[in-house]
Amino acid sequence: MEDVVIIGGGLSGSSLLYACQQSGFSAVMLEDRVVGGAGATAHSRGMVRVYDPQPELAEYAVAGLRFWREFGAEHPEVYTPIGLAYFLKDENVQTAENFLARMGNACPDMELVPAEAVEDRCSALNPRFARDKRVAIWEPHAGHINPRVAARALTDRAQTMGASAVEGVRVLRVVPHNGHMRVETGFGGLNARRVIVATGAAPHLLDRPQAVETRSIVLSSFTSSQEKHPAVCLIDEEQGCYLRPGQPGHFYVGGAAPARSAMPESLDVDEPTAMAQNTAHRQSLLESDDYNALSLHVGHDGYTADFLPYLQEPGEDTAGAFCGFSGRGAKYIPSLAQSLVSSWKAKGAL
Ligand SMILES: Cc1cc2nc3c(=O)[nH]c(=O)nc-3n(C[C@H](O)[C@H](O)[C@H](O)COP(=O)(O)OP(=O)(O)OC[C@H]3O[C@@H](n4cnc5c(N)ncnc54)[C@H](O)[C@@H]3O)c2cc1C
Repeated sequence: MEDVVIIGGGLSGSSLLYACQQSGFSAVMLEDRVVGGAGATAHSRGMVRVYDPQPELAEYAVAGLRFWREFGAEHPEVYTPIGLAYFLKDENVQTAENFLARMGNACPDMELVPAEAVEDRCSALNPRFARDKRVAIWEPHAGHINPRVAARALTDRAQTMGASAVEGVRVLRVVPHNGHMRVETGFGGLNARRVIVATGAAPHLLDRPQAVETRSIVLSSFTSSQEKHPAVCLIDEEQGCYLRPGQPGHFYVGGAAPARSAMPESLDVDEPTAMAQNTAHRQSLLESDDYNALSLHVGHDGYTADFLPYLQEPGEDTAGAFCGFSGRGAKYIPSLAQSLVSSWKAKGAL
């Protein structure tokens, strides 16, 4: 009998596997396809930052950034701290000032700067775009993870310490069984004291209502000439879009599509419209027009109406659910996973 069985090997499942193993719980993770290579994690560009208009998330964001910086020190391929500028809507400048006043000690390098000051850090930025904005939050230590590589690295580390991860296993049901839980596949199953369903935008293995829907996020990749390569991550609150640098010569532009539903299969994104929208975002953010589009990806992410990550604690029946949430999961998932496992330990729950 395992202490914990985790269903799903995206960023949530692999962060939880790592946190369980660090806390000394025996854990097995079952992934339908490939760890980090399916679901939202496969499409995500993993921008991590501390600023979030939702104050209840700030502490998790601070802990999340710290986690990636420490993990990234040992796995440089996972975390790239290149700095991030978050352009604020005028009406939200006061919210940001309040945020900085409250969080300043936790992140002393984070500052409110005139929008034009971002041009000094990113010469590719369109000066017209900067002139139209008043201020941005500048975070020098923020940047991006590679979510696929991160999920694999977390899983490998947990496996080195004794955890198990099995790929190519689709879980069909989770049912109570003789005082514990039984995780059933098409060919048998596993027994566990606790089960966490970390299946992203499709958390329907538990026979109980959950507040998770699905939202589409559309992402385009572009090529750039080296000298005009955007050097930092950019987020524009007004347009709801972001730019994330890739390898020199490549970058990504994306935003959330308005479509959302209870099941990913029912979402239909019009690809030419989505590409045109990302191209318009790219034109507004970058000075030159000398860029070529390469591809469009449509990812489906867990979505909650209040934009909070979803964490359903195991109750009496010892099964729960955990998933990242639309477009902003990467920075919160590791710290939420660690706090969940610490709470089990504190309660003597296993
Ligand atoms: C295009 C895009 C861009 C994003 N950009 C950012 C960003 O810049 N910054 C940020 O913070 N966040 C971003 N996100 C969000 C963040 O990456 C996600 O919230 C996070 O990756 C979700 O991870 P997850 O493990 O909860 O879900 P998923 O990655 O969807 O993983 C679920 C896993 O469960 C498996 N699974 C499903 N059903 C079963 C079953 N029955 N049995 C076994 N396995 C099963 C799937 O194969 C999958 O591997 C983005 C998301 C998208 C889609």
